[in-house]
Amino acid sequence: MNKIVCPGCNLGCGLYMNDVLYFRKNAPVNSGKLCKFGMKLHKYEKALPMIGGKEEELSNVISAASKKLAETKDFAFVSFGNVTCEEQLAFTKLASTVGSDVYTCIPGFVGADIEKIRQSTEIITFIDPYTTYPLILRHMLYAKENGAKITSYYWKKIRIADESVILNPTEIDKIKSIDFGDSLVILDLNPLNLEFSNEIINSCNRENIVCLKPFLNSTGASLLSGGEKSIYQILDEIKEKKIKGLYLLESDPRIVPDDALLSALDKLDVLIVQQSAHNSLSDRANIVLPNDRTFEGKGTVLNFEGRALETEGKTEGIKIISEILKSAGKEETSYDSLHAEVLSKLGITEIDEYVVPEHNLVYKPETELKKYEGGSHLIYVYTPFLWNNTIDRDFVEISPGLAESLNLHKDGLLKMTSSKGSAAVKYKIVEDVPDNVVLSPMKLPISTDVITPIEFK
Ligand code: SF4
Repeated sequence: MNKIVCPGCNLGCGLYMNDVLYFRKNAPVNSGKLCKFGMKLHKYEKALPMIGGKEEELSNVISAASKKLAETKDFAFVSFGNVTCEEQLAFTKLASTVGSDVYTCIPGFVGADIEKIRQSTEIITFIDPYTTYPLILRHMLYAKENGAKITSYYWKKIRIADESVILNPTEIDKIKSIDFGDSLVILDLNPLNLEFSNEIINSCNRENIVCLKPFLNSTGASLLSGGEKSIYQILDEIKEKKIKGLYLLESDPRIVPDDALLSALDKLDVLIVQQSAHNSLSDRANIVLPNDRTFEGKGTVLNFEGRALETEGKTEGIKIISEILKSAGKEETSYDSLHAEVLSKLGITEIDEYVVPEHNLVYKPETELKKYEGGSHLIYVYTPFLWNNTIDRDFVEISPGLAESLNLHKDGLLKMTSSKGSAAVKYKIVEDVPDNVVLSPMKLPISTDVITPIEFK
């Protein structure tokens, strides 16, 4: 039975797995508890080695990848952090052979640990803990029972909060005037809301921020790979032909809310994907290399606290990257040497999941908050299911007031129009949502951004 870390987000919940999942009660972050995603750990069809859409011997695909890397100029490498630190490091070595960086699309940041939530007396939160990071809710409840005051800034009312400030997309600037004082701040740093998170990170005491992230090893990836470009910048540069080759390691650009942006991928000279799942991204790629499933890789991952966690399993992904290095005439690498280098970079000699190593990640980004127009908005809300392309809901949330004003009937559909066209979707009436907002856990074809101005017609 392998000791593994749930791949659903950067909380790093521990569990045991063989054919079924078992609770690991001594796991430091979750004490055996798991959210809905962790309890399911979705299954999917495995990606096979392919060239031009046809299955091939792995050795041929490795040679083809190596050849393309050598002959294509301006290659970009992207790994969001869905692999172990050891595999990320191997990927970084591969990128450096063609003079490139690995982009994680989330800046490196390590903030406060989970214990700090429990000890806080004032908490300011920017997440919906009920759907986004449910296990954080347990720690917030503990703090609240011990007298902490919780203030929420979000698109809807958050039940656990003593005070809920509902954010209005046209007045996001108002977050600039929040007085953070010594409050503990709970924030989500993800590739789609960087401007929003940057504004908050740059406005408060960084030691007081619990900074949650969506991918299993987001923190480790940014510690080991220095490239800082957003997923939007990368797609823009592909469109402008500044990037001609793209190598994606367990990273799916289909997370962007506007599918139209993905047409940039058709402009690439070559798209290589190395991933565990067979899906429409691997169908689109020129070269497909298989990888260990995210929760089956052996190695180290760093959770949002910077805590190093061990996950047991296979090292097939590393072996493939090492073979590409060898095929390119470069020095091969191995799990053992990568693991030793990871420990050295962390300044530790062994993994102890109960001790958080010291981190000195420098947070650099400066961005401008986006401005949104319009009276009503469709807002894309994040859950582990969204990041893993396994949406578990097929409805949006709207207020009773909106349902009444649109005269919606039970089993009817909500009709919305944006600059991209119209959509009709199932809805659920929820008391906590304001009348001018539709919250969607699904990517809808009318989305133009995380926040899309809409009309109801
Ligand atoms: S998705 Fe995140 S919160 Fe849920 S079980 Fe996995 S690691 Fe824990």
